[in-house]
Amino acid sequence: MTELTPEAALEQAALAGIHRLAIPTPFAVGRVNCYLLEDEPLTLIDTGPNSGKALDELQRALGERGHSIDDLELVIVTHQHIDHLGLVEIIVEHSGAEVAAIGVAAQRLANFEEDAEAEDRFAVELMLRSGIPEEVTAALQSVSRSFRSWGSHVAVTRPLEDGEEVAFRDRTLRAIHRPGHSPSDTVFWDEERRILIAADHLLAHISSNPLISRPLDGSAGRPQALVTYIQSMKKTREMPAEFVLGGHGEPIVDHVALIDDRLAKHEKRKEKIFKLIAEQPRSGYEVAQAIWGNVAVTQAFLTLSEVIGHADLLVNEGRVREVDDGEVVRYEATG
Ligand SMILES: [Zn+2]
Repeated sequence: MTELTPEAALEQAALAGIHRLAIPTPFAVGRVNCYLLEDEPLTLIDTGPNSGKALDELQRALGERGHSIDDLELVIVTHQHIDHLGLVEIIVEHSGAEVAAIGVAAQRLANFEEDAEAEDRFAVELMLRSGIPEEVTAALQSVSRSFRSWGSHVAVTRPLEDGEEVAFRDRTLRAIHRPGHSPSDTVFWDEERRILIAADHLLAHISSNPLISRPLDGSAGRPQALVTYIQSMKKTREMPAEFVLGGHGEPIVDHVALIDDRLAKHEKRKEKIFKLIAEQPRSGYEVAQAIWGNVAVTQAFLTLSEVIGHADLLVNEGRVREVDDGEVVRYEATG
């Protein structure tokens, strides 16, 4: 058997009526992969951000395949991040398309503005409790506000249950909730063709950040995003996928090897963080600074999510505990 290349995987997907449309975003991640399903209903999986440039390119890409935005009958939203869903509202206005997403996220998607505010408040509180200086959190909050116009509220007309099958003329896709990168991550499994459409749950070229986010049900408390993400990856590892179509970059032709590599890297990072904590008690921010230096300031929330995620693993293993002095939470080794 010859080994499948990412290019060949894209060709195979296209033969199955799944076309990658790479839409520009203003974010560091670069283009976002939307997937056009030429089937009944005519379906777009993710839309790109809410910008004129993204809309132009989406229109052109659809046009190249003989379609227009007005023809879309179903939009599927893979998760709550704005680079994936910003154009949903505009597409629905033009086409009247149904909107499908995992049902547990529907309420949050519907209240985009309020939700973004609440998410920012949650992030600021978490950063302050982790020892990040107030001026850094304020700067990040204004960056986050300036990004908000690239998002959109999403009225989900077709809420999906975890495991539910979505039937098309030529295929069936099973919606499977795989939280971790975000609480709403949903992958779509074509069992017959063994193609997994995974959005940001798995990316070929970069490790998906287990960003810490509020629980979908609005309950208080902080989810263990990395712990959840590792559980999700282990489930995906067992799927007999021929290839995986990600939300950015090229298809993944060996998801088992990729997941094993990701898991090994998390293990290594966990041990590195344990060493730093064992040396002396440190806040999340202090650990992030020790590892990433200035990046812990410019990318404070991202790096903090990394540290907290791995510290959660250590806390769950009983090797580290959280010590709260009333202002800042520090990690210390239990041994
Ligand atoms: Zn994402």
